Amino acid sequence: MLVSAVVPCYDEQDVLEETHAALSAALSALEGADAEIVYVDDGSRDRTREILRAIQSRDARARVVSLSRNFGHQIAVSAGIEHAAGDCVVVIDADLQDPPEVIGEMIALWRGGYQVVYGVRADREGETAFKKWTARVFYRLINRLSHVEMPLDAGDFRLMDRRAVDVLLSMPERDRYLRGMVSWIGFRQAAVLYRRAPRRAGSSKYPLAKMIRFAADGLLSFSLTPLRLAIWTGFAAIALAFLGIMWAVLEWLFTNDLVRGWASLFTAVLFLGGVQLITLGIIGEYIGRIYAEVKRRPLYVVDERLGFENRRRLAVANDDEDAAREAREAVGVGRDAAR
Ligand code: UDP
Ligand code: MG
Repeated sequence: MLVSAVVPCYDEQDVLEETHAALSAALSALEGADAEIVYVDDGSRDRTREILRAIQSRDARARVVSLSRNFGHQIAVSAGIEHAAGDCVVVIDADLQDPPEVIGEMIALWRGGYQVVYGVRADREGETAFKKWTARVFYRLINRLSHVEMPLDAGDFRLMDRRAVDVLLSMPERDRYLRGMVSWIGFRQAAVLYRRAPRRAGSSKYPLAKMIRFAADGLLSFSLTPLRLAIWTGFAAIALAFLGIMWAVLEWLFTNDLVRGWASLFTAVLFLGGVQLITLGIIGEYIGRIYAEVKRRPLYVVDERLGFENRRRLAVANDDEDAAREAREAVGVGRDAAR
């Protein structure tokens, strides 16, 4: 049995050595399981890549996929999952905010028959009140708006069984809100509560603008409610207009003062103009996403792969035909280009 850990890394030079030590220790402690660690260098500008190379050269369980530029967290995770050969795959952040010790618990639940085990943050230390509050509101909002049931306060720290991974890999969308996609897959899913530790070193790679984009990706790819909002505002505006017409008729019948009312006209025009622009904007968001989807570009571009040869040698030594073929495919460039 092989357990793969997938670690997205973007400018994580300060923490990687510590992460690797902690993660290796946690994986070695698993009984009856081999392990591999797939690091994805998401176009880091610091020394992350050199450090990963060094780690890989001294640890045969480590593999490195370096992307050609920064593609973003969700795509880096997708790339890692695609390169993982394990019977189950655990996605974990590089900054040790997700404690590697929890992997043992996840594996136990997986062995108990769950296909997906996700970590739920019981507590988030060392994060700003603003981040905690916006995260809280966001997870509740997306659950209300989307037709897919998503666990509250769960991040990307999760274990997925090979079956779930294969389904995930067959989902070709570019807008990758992975937590939602994994919920959509279904199967038997279980939660593990954990305390989210503060980041061990370095700084957050999710500034406000990126957080907003991430939230918009999640909402727009899992809900059509924003589009429907336009319809409801339209109905409300029409209802209001009817009241206005009745008012005008009554005024015409019972008074002869007809010049008044410019202020209400003016506000109505401004208001409706605003509503129309917002609606167009929302439609534009969806069209932009459709455009990105139909271009069918590969999800990411790999610059360098390290350590996958080891996997092939191991598979060949064990006379494992399937694993050897899979390893060969993972090293080739054809697979991601097709997606
Ligand atoms: N990350 C990435 N690409 C990015 C941004 C982040 O691979 O463009 C990685 C990062 O190295 C870390 C994980 O995604 O392993 C989560 O990022 P971070 O800890 O900065 O986010 P936060 O925990 O502050 O939300
Ligand atoms: Mg973090």
